[in-house]
Amino acid sequence: MPVYRDDVITWIKAVAGMISENSSYLTELDSAIGDADHGANMERGFKAVINKLPEISDKDIGTIFKTIGMTLLSTVGGAGGPLYGTWFLQAGLKTAGKMELTLPDWTEALEASLSGVVMRGKAELGDKTMVDALTPAVNALKQAIQDNQPINAALELSADSAKKGMEATIPLVARKGRASYLGERSAGHQDPGATSTYLMLKVAAETWKESI
Ligand code: ADP
Ligand code: MG
Repeated sequence: MPVYRDDVITWIKAVAGMISENSSYLTELDSAIGDADHGANMERGFKAVINKLPEISDKDIGTIFKTIGMTLLSTVGGAGGPLYGTWFLQAGLKTAGKMELTLPDWTEALEASLSGVVMRGKAELGDKTMVDALTPAVNALKQAIQDNQPINAALELSADSAKKGMEATIPLVARKGRASYLGERSAGHQDPGATSTYLMLKVAAETWKESI
């Protein structure tokens, strides 16, 4: 079974729930090295996304992702909003017209998201941003395709890799975003955006675990 359009909707709803449950955690991480708004930003964005879902849940996956991207862009300020907006817009371009996703489809979509985030935010691997979680996640998906893994195993590998990438941000000195204003003092704290990225991919693995 691939990931069907309705599974994508289920994922988005689960992401909104997870963001809401982890809002204080994300804000706490952002209070250490940023301006203590990442949880609130993400929560506001995904609440707006949930309100949009009834209008788009009968559309193709590309339209759903594109609308989510535009909603995040228009409701979330700061760095995180435009970056997650770009993430979903790019995924939407790759999945235009699709009613289901195979493992290569999802991999291509996430790879396009990563390229979009990098183009927009100019962060490199090791700059202590969401790129540090997303890059290993995409690489794990590509490797899983080469190894002929089923989707559920590939999604777990990608979530595990995102988690390792997220944890690896702890000792790093931030070179992008607000945390970079702290210089050396940003070391010793986990990046909030890498954390929300990991959580989103973990929820995908959990939601789509029946996919093969
Ligand atoms: P803001 O920093 O404007 O308050 P958020 O708190 O919502 O926005 O998001 C902060 C997160 O955004 C950071 O933890 C980091 O992961 C991510 N981020 C910031 N700048 C960049 C960038 N240039 N490229 C990629 N990610 C970035
Ligand atoms: Mg912030």
